[in-house]
Amino acid sequence: MAHVLVLGGTTEARALAAALAGRPGLRVTSSLAGRVAEPRLPAGEVRIGGFGGPDGLAAWLRDHAVDAFVDATHPFAAVMSHNAALAAAATGVPLLALRRPGWTPVDGDRWHPVASLDEAAAVLPVLGRRVFLTTGRQGIGSFAHLDGLHFLARSVDPPEPPVPAALDVLLDRGPFTLDGERALLREHRIDVVVTKDSGGAATAPKLTAARELGLPVVVVERPPLPAGVPAAGSVEAALDWLAGYGTALR
Ligand code: NAP
Repeated sequence: MAHVLVLGGTTEARALAAALAGRPGLRVTSSLAGRVAEPRLPAGEVRIGGFGGPDGLAAWLRDHAVDAFVDATHPFAAVMSHNAALAAAATGVPLLALRRPGWTPVDGDRWHPVASLDEAAAVLPVLGRRVFLTTGRQGIGSFAHLDGLHFLARSVDPPEPPVPAALDVLLDRGPFTLDGERALLREHRIDVVVTKDSGGAATAPKLTAARELGLPVVVVERPPLPAGVPAAGSVEAALDWLAGYGTALR
């Protein structure tokens, strides 16, 4: 039995697991961090929770006779990606990074690229006062000191302190529609949007809605992938890469 581990938490990870699950002679295990209270579960086997750093992941790869693994975590899950690269180097188990392409601006976009959430917080006060924050609940502390601004933060689960003083929370999870995003920006009189460069279609309509309304968008750029890890931009490309590692994967 060949065994593939998918480090997950993304649409692409679920699609990859769905494409692999049920193949004869193949076992697929998806790993989730356990951050979301009610995660969307992928097909195949699922394990939840941290491995205990790169050494813990290396031990898991050995103990579970993993033949190849795919880091299909979110582009901003940089610690996990780094740990995966270290565990691959330590064990010799082949590793592929699956990353959907980032977004690119088009005519009419008013994007302000920044390198981090802290930098996003630093530029916000000159861009607007009513902020739509879509960077997820974990980094909201970077904005907690901005007393003069009002925030509408959208996340899957509620954020935990520290949070900004003037904060409305919208609990929701994509995909989102253009009509919905347009209505949301108008209803809450948003004048600036903050996003990570997550890429993908599910959360892109907010960018179109912001463009239509002429709103600035602060875009947090992606952290780099660890050096030396091959990367694929689509589930199909990841399946092609896996096909090189054993007959059950072809
Ligand atoms: P992170 O900062 O890169 O990772 C922190 C720690 O969480 C890792 O060291 C690892 O613990 C554990 N971990 C992360 N992903 C894991 C996985 N798939 N399976 C098992 N353990 C995992 O990660 P993060 O940014 O908190 O993201 C956590 C998860 O949420 C990821 O799986 C990611 O795909 C998903 N996600 C993240 C974002 C985002 O914006 N960051 C957005 C959407 C979804 P150990 O060291 O103990 O192994």
